[in-house]
Amino acid sequence: MTTISTKTNAQQYVDGVFLKLKEKNAHQIEFIQAAEEIFISLVPVFEQHPEYIQHNILERIIEPDRIISFRVAWQDDQNQVQVNRGYRVQYNNVIGPYKGGLRFHPTVNESIMKFLAFEQIFKNALTGQAIGGGKGGSDFNPKGKSDAEIMRFCQAFMTELYRYVGPDVDVPAGDIGVGAREIGYLWGQYKRIRGAYEAGVLTGKKPGYGGSLGRKEATGYGLVYFVEEMLREAKQSFINQKVVVSGSGNVAIYAIEKAQHFGAKVVACSDSSGYIYDPEGIDLKIVKELKEVQGKRIKEYVTHRPNATYTEGCDGIWSIPCDIALPCATQNEINGEQARTLIANGVKVVAEGANMPSNLDAINEFLASDVLFGPGKAANAGGVAVSALEMAQNSGRNYWSEQEVDSKLHDIMKSIFNESSEAAKKYGYAGNLVVGSNIAGFIKVANGMLVEGVY
Ligand code: NAP
Repeated sequence: MTTISTKTNAQQYVDGVFLKLKEKNAHQIEFIQAAEEIFISLVPVFEQHPEYIQHNILERIIEPDRIISFRVAWQDDQNQVQVNRGYRVQYNNVIGPYKGGLRFHPTVNESIMKFLAFEQIFKNALTGQAIGGGKGGSDFNPKGKSDAEIMRFCQAFMTELYRYVGPDVDVPAGDIGVGAREIGYLWGQYKRIRGAYEAGVLTGKKPGYGGSLGRKEATGYGLVYFVEEMLREAKQSFINQKVVVSGSGNVAIYAIEKAQHFGAKVVACSDSSGYIYDPEGIDLKIVKELKEVQGKRIKEYVTHRPNATYTEGCDGIWSIPCDIALPCATQNEINGEQARTLIANGVKVVAEGANMPSNLDAINEFLASDVLFGPGKAANAGGVAVSALEMAQNSGRNYWSEQEVDSKLHDIMKSIFNESSEAAKKYGYAGNLVVGSNIAGFIKVANGMLVEGVY
C-alpha cells in the first residue's frame, strides 16, 4: 500500500488519485467523466476521515477487482459466423456479490463498461441491500436481428460468461438492449451448462420463471417515487406538471406511466432517431404497442395522433418547455447548452432515469440554478433494488405479490432520498443530491473496505 501522510490535504489527495487515473485511462472518456463527478463530491469526506486517506481507499476503489473480456462467436441466419466482444467488469464486492446489468449496444467498449460499473457500486450501496457493483455487455447490435439470432448470440455470450458469474458471485441483469427475452435465453443457457436451477444468477427473468413481479416497471416507477420525494420537500406534487421524458424504452415507458398516474401531463418522448411532441399528453398505450409489442420507431406515433409532431434528431427534445425533465435514454444526452435552455424555459426538476445522461457542465448549470436535480445514481436505483428483491425471492424459492414488491420499492426510494439529503446536509451541501448520494454510497463501501483489510 502506498503510504500517504494523514496530514496530506484532502483536496491534494483526491487530485493526485484523479491525475493518476487520467494518466492510466487516458482514452476512457466516459470513465474519467464518471470518476470526476464522484471525486469532486468526496473531498469533504476525506477532510473528516483521514483514515480513508491512510488506507488509500480512493485509489483502491477506482481500480476494478477485475475486467473480463471475451470473444463471442455466433452464426447469423445466413450461416455466416459473426464475432463480437463481451465484457464483465467486476468492480467491488464489499457489500455483496457483484451486481449490475448487461448492455448490448454497438457503442459498448471498456470505458462505458467501467463508468457504468463504477457508478453501480455506489448506487447499489444506496439501496441498503447486500449487492456489490459490476456491469457487462457486448458491442453486439440487437437492432434488425431475428429472434433466432438473438437467441444464438445470448447462448454464445453465456457460454463464456457462465464461468465468472453465480448467485453468490456475480448477478447480471438487463440494461439497454437486454430485456426479459434476452435474460430468458441467457438463463436457459446458464442452467443447461451448470446442470442446476440457480435462479439467483440473473435478475430480470420473466415472472413465473424465476422473475419478480414489478421488476419491469421498477426503474421508471422508482424514478417517479424519487421525484415525488423531491417535490414533497419543495411542497409540490406531480399534479398538472408538464413532463418531458427522453427515450421510449424500459425506463422511459414506466416513468411515463407512473408520472401520468400521479397526475402529470407527459408531452414528449423519443428514440435514438427523433422525438415526438404531443401537446394533449402522450397516449402511452400507443407508445407501448409501437415499442414493446411491434418494435417500431417512435415516429409512427404521429400516424395515430394527428395533433402530435415528430422531429428527426434527439437534441431538440430539451427545448420543449416543461416543469419536469426526465432523461431516460442514454449517457451524455444533456449538455451545458441544453441545460441552460431547460432552465430558461422554467424547468423546476431534472431527475435522471438513465445513467449519466447529464454531462458535468449540465450538472453544474442545474446546481447553480434553483432547479432540483436528482442524479441517476440515486434516482434510477429502483431497478437494481427490485433485482435484489428478485434475488431474495429466488433464495427463498417463493414469489411476492406485485403490491408487496411495489411497496418495498417505494420505501427504498424514500430511504435513498432521505439518506442522500441527510448526507448532503451533514457535509455542508444541503439540497445538493449529487454530493449527498455520492457521499452516502461511498461511506458504506469505504467502511466495509476498512473492515475487510488491505487487498
Ligand atoms: P432500452 O429499453 O434499451 O431503451 C433505451 C431507449 O433510449 C430507447 O428508446 C432508445 O431508442 C433510446 N436511445 C438510445 N440512444 C439514444 C440517444 N442517443 N438519444 C435518444 N434516445 C436514445 O434501455 P433502458 O433499460 O430503458 O435504459 C435506458 C437508460 O437507463 C440507460 O442509461 C440504462 O443504463 C439506464 N438504466 C436502466 C435500468 C433498467 O432497469 N433498465 C436501470 C437503471 C438505469 P432506440 O429504440 O432507437 O434504440
